[in-house]
Amino acid sequence: MSGVAIDRAACEALDAADPLRGLRALYELAPGLVYLDGNSLGPLPRTTVACVERGMREAWGRELIRSWNTAGWIDLPQRIGDAIAPLIGAGPGEVVAADSTSVNLFKVLSAAIAMRPKRSTILSENGNFPTDLYIAQGLIAQTGGTRTLRLVERTGLLDAIDADTAVVMLTQVDYRSGSRLDLAEVTARAHALGALVVWDLAHSAGAFEVALNEARADFAVGCGYKYLNGGPGAPAFVFVARRHQHDFVQPLSGWMGHAAPFDFDPAYRPADGISRALVGTPPILSMLALECGVAAMRAAAPLGGMAAIRRKSLALSDLFIELVERRCAGFGLRLVTPRAHAARASQASFAIADGATGYAVIQALIARAVIGDFRAPDVLRFGFAPSYLRFVDIWDAVERLREVLVTRAWDRPEFRTRLAVT
Ligand SMILES: *Cc1c(COP(=O)(O)O)cnc(C)c1O
Repeated sequence: MSGVAIDRAACEALDAADPLRGLRALYELAPGLVYLDGNSLGPLPRTTVACVERGMREAWGRELIRSWNTAGWIDLPQRIGDAIAPLIGAGPGEVVAADSTSVNLFKVLSAAIAMRPKRSTILSENGNFPTDLYIAQGLIAQTGGTRTLRLVERTGLLDAIDADTAVVMLTQVDYRSGSRLDLAEVTARAHALGALVVWDLAHSAGAFEVALNEARADFAVGCGYKYLNGGPGAPAFVFVARRHQHDFVQPLSGWMGHAAPFDFDPAYRPADGISRALVGTPPILSMLALECGVAAMRAAAPLGGMAAIRRKSLALSDLFIELVERRCAGFGLRLVTPRAHAARASQASFAIADGATGYAVIQALIARAVIGDFRAPDVLRFGFAPSYLRFVDIWDAVERLREVLVTRAWDRPEFRTRLAVT
């Protein structure tokens, strides 16, 4: 794309040649809307409404409790886990859908520190997503302070792993900048020093190829409502490498993780395999929606799969960055996402000198049907989900951003008022 200035017609030509162009029809998206926030809440797949309605009217409404068996409700966590597995380089029986990312993190982090009893440090980074740090802090309080959370800068991570590191707990993609860690490199370094690694794949799963088993990853968690399009508050997922499953002991020992829940045995005995990561009764309606979301994501498989998703993601984000830098120059936007493809996930973030203005710019953009989001203190964040975004959407988004900046359309009280959710 270098050299010749691209225009809207050139974007239309890119769309016409895009092998993934048919996937957009799988989603409900209002005409004219440019949705650059699929990294926060994926859109509604068209199949989801019918699927959840069937789950309500037929399975719940008519079959009632029989549906646990007849509609296969009881196996949904494992079934959806197996559908997610190929997206993250895991094998069958290594992933289940359950609970929230935060809760799953508590489970795997607890299990992981118990597997390294002589080491006291959980190592993470300052900029990790807050819930991850809060969960680690809560867990440490549970251990009576025998463990410590050590936070370092992202750039110093590899050097900070040492003989006292029990677990390295990291989010692969920085939610603000969109910078991406090399999962295999960090995992190998941690293993070489005897530590385990817990990966949070919230902004990875469904966004690009993840190769957990190739990297010999230990544990991972991830989100169902971002790139997996499972709907607001969708169940999350948890991965435990097969080689660790026998030693995987997590503290939320609920009956759905029991070897035989319907024996009603008073003593807890964990199920074999990944099922021991389960806790209580799964939220079936949300599970059905997540199953549709994952199926929509997997519709890319015959078109080149996650490799094709990744290629288009980089092309979209390259185009966005190039156009913002060309069309919106002079307004103090500074790219904070790495330019190097290997270090970049599927978003582009720009810092702005004045955070309050940044918030208002995003609100003014939303009023023009371009949805991105704002991350305090000063980041304008735009996510690219290749399944439904077109190159013309990128063009239109940047033109509307330019208009907001040039006309100062953001400078109005209604755009400056902070809403509860940014
Ligand atoms: C979105 C996100 C979460 C979300 O956790 P919930 O338990 O679903 O609220 C966790 N970690 C990271 C890194 C995230 O980006």
